[in-house]
Amino acid sequence: MLLTLLVSWLLLCPALAEQPAPAGAEAYGHTARDGGLDCVRDPCSSVMPAADSFEAVEGKPYLEGLSGDDLVGWVVLSTDLVDIKGYSGQPLSTLIGLNTEGVITGARVLHHSEPILLIGIPEQRLHDFVDLHAGMRGDERVVVGQSSDPDARTVDIVSGATVTALAESRTIMDSVTALGQDVGAIERRVQTPGHFVATEELLSWQQLLDEGVFGRLTVTAKDMGATGDEYLNVSGDQLFMDIWFTVADSPRVGRSLLGPNRYAHAMSQLAPGEHLVVVLGQGASTFKGSGFVRGGLFDRIRLTQGLAVVMFHDLDYTNLGGLDAEGAPEFKEGALFVARGGALDPGRSFELVFLGSRFDNKGGFSRDFHSFTSTHRLPKSVYVLDGPDPERALWLQAWRNKRVEVLVVGLWLLSLVAVFAGRRWTTADGARLKKLHTGYLIFAFVVGGLMLSAQPSVTQILTFVDSLVGGWRWGLFLSEPLLFLSWIFIAVVTLIWGRGVFCGWACPYGALNELTFKLGRLLKLPEYELPEVLHSKLRYLRYAILAGLIGVYLWDPMLGERAAEIEPFKSTFFVAIWTREWFFIAWWVALASLSLVMYRPFCRYVCPLGAGLAIPGSFRLSGPYRRDFCSKCKICTKTCEPRAIRPDGSIDPRECLSCMECEANWRDDQVCPPLVKARRDRERAAK
Ligand code: SF4
Ligand code: SF4
Repeated sequence: MLLTLLVSWLLLCPALAEQPAPAGAEAYGHTARDGGLDCVRDPCSSVMPAADSFEAVEGKPYLEGLSGDDLVGWVVLSTDLVDIKGYSGQPLSTLIGLNTEGVITGARVLHHSEPILLIGIPEQRLHDFVDLHAGMRGDERVVVGQSSDPDARTVDIVSGATVTALAESRTIMDSVTALGQDVGAIERRVQTPGHFVATEELLSWQQLLDEGVFGRLTVTAKDMGATGDEYLNVSGDQLFMDIWFTVADSPRVGRSLLGPNRYAHAMSQLAPGEHLVVVLGQGASTFKGSGFVRGGLFDRIRLTQGLAVVMFHDLDYTNLGGLDAEGAPEFKEGALFVARGGALDPGRSFELVFLGSRFDNKGGFSRDFHSFTSTHRLPKSVYVLDGPDPERALWLQAWRNKRVEVLVVGLWLLSLVAVFAGRRWTTADGARLKKLHTGYLIFAFVVGGLMLSAQPSVTQILTFVDSLVGGWRWGLFLSEPLLFLSWIFIAVVTLIWGRGVFCGWACPYGALNELTFKLGRLLKLPEYELPEVLHSKLRYLRYAILAGLIGVYLWDPMLGERAAEIEPFKSTFFVAIWTREWFFIAWWVALASLSLVMYRPFCRYVCPLGAGLAIPGSFRLSGPYRRDFCSKCKICTKTCEPRAIRPDGSIDPRECLSCMECEANWRDDQVCPPLVKARRDRERAAK
């Protein structure tokens, strides 16, 4: 039966990949998007029902929504304003409407690449989550999950897709803030609450670099065009432009760079909301250019922050000849600018944009223009935020939101480490060991699985392999705190005691399998075991499945993710089973039924995750204790449910699920024949 089901599964896999995208995705178009906002193609009215037409605004990425001739609001595509990455490392492209009162009129996800949503959690949950933002003011403080801040508005997390929810909420709120401030519907905040560090110590050039005070933008001749610039006599990797830039309001930076007098004078000229910007240049070209002399405007550099743009005029400029900081190199050119108009928020990231131009050898004054951008954020040693960081890493927020769950899972797994570290006590009493084991199985299933969804999966092995091939991303692994903790636990215990500590005691689905089998026994159902010849071959099947999944995943991650649903974990812990397609239900029911009459059939023959753990577990440092006599005695062999004890009495670490019953026997002078004999000898001698 298991084999028939497996074959059907493998046949179904290609079909699964061709399944239509979930309902929401179909409706919103799940293909990657080209170009910007287009209300002929994009459903603008769905996020701004009050508008009957939409008109472009010159030079802006958003459109005006009109009812007749009256302006009712604006619509914008988030990816035109912010770059916030989700779990997949790609942004969630969201269409958002904002009315003239600064209230969000609607939001819809047009495209995303979030794997969790595509394969397990219903798409509708994301759309429901997005809908929660409609009706909020664009300048409200929105917190996903719980918050102790009485002024914050909270929205419920999407369980199992924490990072996706955090990224989507931040995408919506940051987009409407930028849009609302640009159109005047939301008051422009002068800066994120915070302050420049006021200490007067003087830093050397090296200390400034070590603290990350400067942003840097380098442009090579090759970046400017294949042949370089003959006029400036640079080519290939030679520097066309090398720009260093920072905000110098903090005395730590300003006094160090400008010297006390120049700094004091420059600061005395600033009006509220204005900031000092230092720009230094090396390379063949110039960031100042000569145009400003004629037009009064520095047209080669500007700062941008969201939709805000800071341009520099000659009245904002002071020539910066040399730097005071000890060890500072000589720069070809330097400028001290004043960023006016309150447009620059020093508490958030900003970009320096350089517009490079070179003669293109087409004759006359014909030039070639290229634009380059570098993002910078002032370090904490220069600017300290007074409240929560609006750009805090999403994974940090996920850990904050789940601190109670992290504590519960952390204590649970640590206690399990203690059970194995203190195995002399654990295995000293067979009856106590059984009760302890059953208790851990119930906890793993009920709390770890049903309540916390802390079920590791082979998809994390696939992501791990993918990261090794395609580039490591810590944020991805840290973004699911409970799974991250589980994997740290798995890595440690597997190398010390083998995969059985996780599989035999802590895996929520494994626990369900074993508890189901115990229930079958309680109900006195018949029990089945495969004949040895079949068992010894079939136990390698899971390795083949794992290898196949890795191959498929590297070839097509989407297909790999769906094929990984051979693990029935999502149907068990993430999604209500009755809401799933028939083949997921059939697979789940078949495995559950089989588990009633056979000990852990999925774990022993199919589970690719178990296979992935069994490989490093082969090298475990310590397994259950054995003695020479074990090769003759079959007491433990008969009671070892996973059939992990070989005919010679040794233990196969890949099969052992660390129930530790054989070690309890090994210690028991009522069970283990050499100990029984020794005890009897002792008793006889005593008599
Ligand atoms: S074999 Fe798979 S399902 Fe079974 S306990 Fe191990 S990881 Fe869990
Ligand atoms: S009885 Fe079997 S599964 Fe349990 S610890 Fe011993 S060898 Fe491992």
